[in-house]
Amino acid sequence: MLYQPDEPEIPTALAHKVSGTHPIKELDLPLFTIQTVPGKGKGLIARINIAQGTRILSEKPLFTTPNLAPITLMESTIATKLKSLPKPQQRQLLSLHNNFPGKHPFSGITKTNALPCGPTSNIGAIYPTICLLNHSCLPNAHNSWNSTTTRETIHAIRAIAAGDELTIAYDTGLPSSPRRTHLENAFGFVCTCTLCSLPPPALATSDARRLQIQRLDAAIGDPARVMSQPSACLADCHALLHVLEEEYGGAAVALFARLYYDAFQISITHGDQARAGVFAERGYRARVGCEGEDSPETLRVKRLVEDPARHGSFGASMRWKTAKGLVPEGLDAGALERWLWRLGG
Ligand SMILES: [Zn+2]
Repeated sequence: MLYQPDEPEIPTALAHKVSGTHPIKELDLPLFTIQTVPGKGKGLIARINIAQGTRILSEKPLFTTPNLAPITLMESTIATKLKSLPKPQQRQLLSLHNNFPGKHPFSGITKTNALPCGPTSNIGAIYPTICLLNHSCLPNAHNSWNSTTTRETIHAIRAIAAGDELTIAYDTGLPSSPRRTHLENAFGFVCTCTLCSLPPPALATSDARRLQIQRLDAAIGDPARVMSQPSACLADCHALLHVLEEEYGGAAVALFARLYYDAFQISITHGDQARAGVFAERGYRARVGCEGEDSPETLRVKRLVEDPARHGSFGASMRWKTAKGLVPEGLDAGALERWLWRLGG
């Protein structure tokens, strides 16, 4: 679907009052408009208030290309691919922003705009609309590659107000100094988002949190430690949850999904089906919030909610053996959390 930049605004509130309908939903109009954003080229602006968890976009790539190819090789490969596209799509590609003007316009556009097909993929993809999403270090939307539908999806990870710019993160949550270098080298811009514009003491607090997130992530991901010190690993997961909440508010949905999956794995490795079931359920809900019900990862975690013991690590140890679904009843929220994370003995 293609969207024109200057679509007329629709008087939502009035139409809603008169007819009792929601014209934006009924007309299946996009939730955003494409506008010029000062200093950033084009961007996507929310047309109406968008609830957290809403799928904003699902889009097929115009084309894909290896991210790591040398720029000269990339130029001729992309030129060939470009020629094979229909004329309107060629025009779309050439209208995208280029932060690397010079001798290699096609690779400059690709380098500025390509998104990897999945977090570990070396394949980059160019999309007609998604490529107009600008970066924020505290984004309000999440991009994810769905390998089943071969589409990139965008979900709201915060409540977004009408008129706000939709943003995704082009980086992986680095502290400010390496983040600035990465964004400049890889995408050719200096970030001026709300986080990067903080006064130095507040930015230093954010940097300390991001370093702690990296440290905890590395500690949790150590398989030998999961076997020998599962309580310490689970305590690290709990600590990570709090640091993520402090740094991102409720918007670290993809990171929450991974964290709960880690806590699930620690529990199921030691035979604790009861806690593993709760962690899988929370991980599933977080995954739906940033990737939707149809993503392969969402569906995989959903199967683990139904039967935690189907995970390959089940039975490696039976140190924490519990039966499926055996969650204590009658606990208040605080006591339930203490039980879940095995806090306080
Ligand atoms: Zn920033």
